[in-house]
Amino acid sequence: MSEPLSIERLRKEGESFNEELSREFYESLSGLKAEAQIQPLYEKYRAIFSKDALEITREAFLGSSEGTEERRSARLLLDWQVESHSSRQLASLDEREIAWEGDAVVQLSDGRQIPYQRTSIELGNSTDRHERAMIESARVKLVGRELAPMKRERFQRERDITEAIGIASGYNATWELLSGISLDGLRAECEAFLRDTQGMWDDVAPRVAKRVLGMALKETTRADALALFRAREFDEFFPARDMESAIRRQVTEMGIDPEANGRIILDTGDRQGKRSRAFCAPVRVPNEVYLVLRPHGGQTDWSTFLHELGHALHYAYMRPDLPLEFRFMGDNSVTEGYAMLFDHLMQDAGWLHRYTGLEKSTSPAFLRSAGFEELHFLRRYCAKLIYETELYGGALSWEALPDLYVELLSSATGFQYARADAFVDVDPRYYAARYLRAWQLQALLAETLTQKFDADWWRNPKAGPWMVESLFGEAQRELAHEQAMRVSGKALSFAPLVRKIERMLG
Ligand SMILES: [Zn+2]
Repeated sequence: MSEPLSIERLRKEGESFNEELSREFYESLSGLKAEAQIQPLYEKYRAIFSKDALEITREAFLGSSEGTEERRSARLLLDWQVESHSSRQLASLDEREIAWEGDAVVQLSDGRQIPYQRTSIELGNSTDRHERAMIESARVKLVGRELAPMKRERFQRERDITEAIGIASGYNATWELLSGISLDGLRAECEAFLRDTQGMWDDVAPRVAKRVLGMALKETTRADALALFRAREFDEFFPARDMESAIRRQVTEMGIDPEANGRIILDTGDRQGKRSRAFCAPVRVPNEVYLVLRPHGGQTDWSTFLHELGHALHYAYMRPDLPLEFRFMGDNSVTEGYAMLFDHLMQDAGWLHRYTGLEKSTSPAFLRSAGFEELHFLRRYCAKLIYETELYGGALSWEALPDLYVELLSSATGFQYARADAFVDVDPRYYAARYLRAWQLQALLAETLTQKFDADWWRNPKAGPWMVESLFGEAQRELAHEQAMRVSGKALSFAPLVRKIERMLG
């Protein structure tokens, strides 16, 4: 007979479960095995995902008081249980979607067929606006007819399942209680950001649309936006062969071992079945962290590698004595913040001149383009967050949501969005909130690093050890806003981002 359920048993078996799950993802996505076997894992560990497990963490949460370490742990464990409870019930819907996405084919009016999963690549690569419009209208028709109803059902179910657990009244209040993040506060910041940067956007977006696409902004759709941001004018300065060595050199100069004494395993070899995008798989934290990539070269590759390296360093330098919930769970705004701290090095002229092929004559144009992209993504994510609070909030009917989606996203970006994407272009469980807070956190961290270690902190041998000690070592025990206050003495906000974008757009 196995030992009775307890928080200790949840931690112990949760650790093994996470290790096995992460290894499945690593091996399947890196081409070492054909497909991930996830359902058998849930079966093997069914005791820690039972109703009793949920109840034990609920009791621990209710029995702890706000502001204590017990509450900090209990909140994360309960959040994990609530998420698993809902993921398990949604698994069949998720599998149905994955199967659809793998098989679906977009039928173009000129007789061609494109696999659904390639449409954004085809749209990004097409330099002919009429071709893009043709692909986009076929994609929208297919998504509206087949994928959107499945996604809508999934979000309805997710909302119902979460609300039925009865932790707080409604999905949003439950998420706020379990995450420690105020949605109303973040939403108000997003609304202010959209207002404050409207003038800047109106000034720059039409010019870029004209120059890159030869189109008036008001004629563009999201398909044209894909082509606009796929523009490869600077790729020659970011060759594949130099990427790994240049970035390793930088991290070493900062006083951090890029392989964390063997705990980070760089999987850079070519292999059949290996995904083309870089990813980080924390299998045993902090002792076995994989950074997988297949270098192609180009700007996006460099920034993806930097992003995933930020995650890998975070996991590999976490203090091993911290409990499961601080190493595997917690506010992902923190780990995304470190990942963004590293990928935003691509917006630092000094860093670019030292480690890439970009020269002083080409970097001003590169930085203007990067500033435009940054502003676009922030405006898009602000609009998404506002929309998603309505999607999960429940005050609007499901039928009313697509019009709101189109209105919010189109007016924030200037690109016309499609109703069909209203349930497709959604980050489940408010991951958009984590990204937005990560954006804010990395800006404050970069300011703090500059104050402590100068503008070229990224090559100051004292900066790395401070980062390991004060940031990575803490794992994900703190919420992003707590960490911002501890490290910089400032509250998270969009203000430093607005200042930086203004400087970049010059
Ligand atoms: Zn990330």
